[in-house]
Amino acid sequence: MSQQQNVVFFNGELKLESEVGIPIRDRGFIYGDAVFDATRTFNGRPFRLREHIRRLYHSLRYLRIDPGMDPTEMERWSLEVVNHNYPLLPPNQDMWVMQRISRGVEATEPGEDTTPTVLIESHAIPFARRASLYRDGASVITPSTPRIPPRFLSPRAKTHNYLNLVLGELEAQGTDANSWAVLLDESGNLTEGRGSNIFLVQDGVVATPRGQYVLEGITRGTVMDLAAGLDLPVEERDLDLYDAYTADEAFLTSTSLCICPVSSVNGAPIGDGRIPGPVTRRLMSAFSDLAGMDFEAQYLSYLP
Ligand code: PLP
Repeated sequence: MSQQQNVVFFNGELKLESEVGIPIRDRGFIYGDAVFDATRTFNGRPFRLREHIRRLYHSLRYLRIDPGMDPTEMERWSLEVVNHNYPLLPPNQDMWVMQRISRGVEATEPGEDTTPTVLIESHAIPFARRASLYRDGASVITPSTPRIPPRFLSPRAKTHNYLNLVLGELEAQGTDANSWAVLLDESGNLTEGRGSNIFLVQDGVVATPRGQYVLEGITRGTVMDLAAGLDLPVEERDLDLYDAYTADEAFLTSTSLCICPVSSVNGAPIGDGRIPGPVTRRLMSAFSDLAGMDFEAQYLSYLP
């Protein structure tokens, strides 16, 4: 196997990425009948891989898919993919490693079994495209498309069905091409964006929407722990646009963004305009310490 090309784990073995194709009748492709998770590396080391894989197995159970391998094996193969592909990246780069499992190819004959399709792949994080967020902050827009209520489809499972979030994002980006969408629920409370959770800071209290209404981000959990460690009160509660417009600070969290300051919500500037605000700054520093790498400096190094 060539050392110069990315490998993926596909249905039981490592293969060159260029040699793998998903069958046209795979239910992940035709119905979005699949789950995934994504971990990032810091200097080539995956961060909280075990927690991501634990969430992956919860998503699998929610969709009643048996991947045919246990979490330890999933972790081992994920590390194999990282260890092979990371040295192929340019210096100062890092990557996502993603596990994707679909229910498999649609059965055509009665009694025919479907075998899940299991893919583990990695690709580079787009640092250059996002670098200015850490200088200017993210502009958040709340589109009119509401987040699907948990009783219809739980946002706690990370499935291949992202259309609700994609439509919200298209709407927000129709208003401002560089904006980040955060969808509201049917009652007008903040939920999340296509790949991020949101936090508000008011009078030193760090608050985020309740876990039942969002994907409980691994970064979200890490930030809540870090805030508690810094003696900052943390709340999970309903947060509406009044809370957002009057917040002292706001930030997004995700595996790849880590902690990203928000500069405005629907055009209303957040706080006194400092990017990041003082509480966000403390959390960003604590996150970098935990990750063993200054993630903000890595992003900013990509500014032109
Ligand atoms: N919400 C959604 C819908 C996501 O897809 C993600 C990204 O995985 C997040 C939130 C943030 O979660 P995490 O911090 O685990 O990346």
